[in-house]
Amino acid sequence: MSEIAQCWIDGEVIPAHQAKVSVFDHGFLYGDGIFEGIRFYNKRVFRLPLHMARLKRSARALQLDIPLDDTAFEEAIYATLKAFPLADGYLRVLITRGVGALGINPANCAKPAVIIIADKLVMVGDEERNRGIRAIIASTRRMTPDRLDPRIKSLNYLNAIQAKMEANYAGVEEAILLNERGFVTEGSAMNIFVVRDGAIYTPPATEGALQGVTRGTVLEVAKELGIPASETVLTSYDLFTADECFFTGTGAKLIPIREIDGRKMGTCPGAIYLKLLAGFNALVARETAG
Ligand code: PMP
Repeated sequence: MSEIAQCWIDGEVIPAHQAKVSVFDHGFLYGDGIFEGIRFYNKRVFRLPLHMARLKRSARALQLDIPLDDTAFEEAIYATLKAFPLADGYLRVLITRGVGALGINPANCAKPAVIIIADKLVMVGDEERNRGIRAIIASTRRMTPDRLDPRIKSLNYLNAIQAKMEANYAGVEEAILLNERGFVTEGSAMNIFVVRDGAIYTPPATEGALQGVTRGTVLEVAKELGIPASETVLTSYDLFTADECFFTGTGAKLIPIREIDGRKMGTCPGAIYLKLLAGFNALVARETAG
């Protein structure tokens, strides 16, 4: 949280440090709610329709009624951006189940609450970005769709947090989670790509990867650049033997990986990563130009 962060709450924009939520909000009590992390550049939101579509899918999956229509939602987002003093930054949009009696029953909550936060976000410094980060394969497995579908971007990230704790304990920056069958899903809050023989591969959503907006954008950029790309089931062997490997996410953008479980990548940052990064930055600049 920074001092300049702004927050839309209860219909008005206020400095984020003044924003308060009820201790009876089920988002706080039970993680009953959903969110999106969104970037803006040049005061323009990057791919807002894709984030809104994913938010709505999460809401439908949890039978959560979004209390604003599309126009009012967009207005609230832009009002928050307007109050934020910088042109570039990060938005966190939350919908919680709202205030209700103690006890988990969502039927006892009168009305979902919407909160929008605009702030700065730097996930990794330039030095790490240039050098690449190290990751472990966590023993924590990604949730399965029959328990809690990982495509719901819910306010409960304990699964990812446990994996991140493993990374902390191992003294590396990030953790990669496998699914129940031992196939690669993604990082703690980032999608993953491997590069082999000039082509890129990323796990399909059906294996437990979130359908990341950045992931989708990178697949598009690869197509533009003529880099073969596919969604493929991957194992730890594919990670250990990759020519290159990188993470993608709204907060992270693209981050190269230099080592996984002590195995060094072929190159880091690799040539394909650098091409995709340049293509990604050019696309963002194009779409958010004034
Ligand atoms: N996986 C998870 C679990 C995430 O939380 C995120 C961040 N939203 C991502 C992947 C990356 O998705 P996106 O590119 O849409 O930010």
